Amino acid sequence: PEARTPLLSVENLTIAFGGLVAVRDFSIAVAPGTIHALIGPNGAGKSTTFNCISRLYRPNAGRILFDGQDITRLPSSAMAGLGIARSFQNLELFNELTVYENILIGAHCHCGASLRDRLSARPPHLAAEIDRIIERTGLGAYRETKACNLDFGHQKLLELARALAIRPRLLLLDEPAAGLRNREIAILDGLLTDLARRDGLTILLVEHVMQLVMSISDRVTVLNFGTKIAEGTPQEVKSNPAVVEAYLGK
Ligand code: ADP
Ligand code: MG
Repeated sequence: PEARTPLLSVENLTIAFGGLVAVRDFSIAVAPGTIHALIGPNGAGKSTTFNCISRLYRPNAGRILFDGQDITRLPSSAMAGLGIARSFQNLELFNELTVYENILIGAHCHCGASLRDRLSARPPHLAAEIDRIIERTGLGAYRETKACNLDFGHQKLLELARALAIRPRLLLLDEPAAGLRNREIAILDGLLTDLARRDGLTILLVEHVMQLVMSISDRVTVLNFGTKIAEGTPQEVKSNPAVVEAYLGK
């Protein structure tokens, strides 16, 4: 099939912290409607790459294109409006708010209103959509539960639910399966596959749970010490000797 224009392209990204080059001359192209995994050992530069894409870090060199538009210099506050949502490796939830309220805030984050305004404005069409997201992410039993009272696995699913509430075109997920039990990983597997195949969402995923990566990914890119060492289908990457040595063999 003809190669489609990538929804996200990172071109020759380099970023250093002091003397440490965290990511060096890294490029990746994520095709629309696909699930693309970014894997590699701890410290390889995966989260740093995400932080550059979502504009939390400023790269020293390189370009980031979203749907053909150069977003390298846009502020991170512009991301939701463009349709780029992300989850964090360390959770960033509102602990004292319920599951429903956390997602509601995600849904309103386009408009830059205050937290209180976002909580009090509850248009009916939004309520239905949030309930759909709650069902899809397996949070149905916890709608009115405060985020701080959820177990870790459900907090992770709530982060994902909140990211979905902005109706993203691109979803950046940083280790969504870390700390999840098999049952929750199965929910995640089905949900992410469904979001890509049925809703046409594009997903870039950092993940260590190989069973999930190999099951859902169309393509896999491997980082080691900030440099790309391999890229291909899950099968190709799994059998690549450099990848086995750097990462999978451990
Ligand atoms: P990964 O997500 O692949 O485990 P990271 O992107 O978090 O790796 O980190 C890559 C390297 O960059 C590590 O050596 C880490 O210590 C360093 N690093 C990441 N963020 C910062 C920062 N804000 N300041 C200094 N060093 C950082
Ligand atoms: Mg990380």
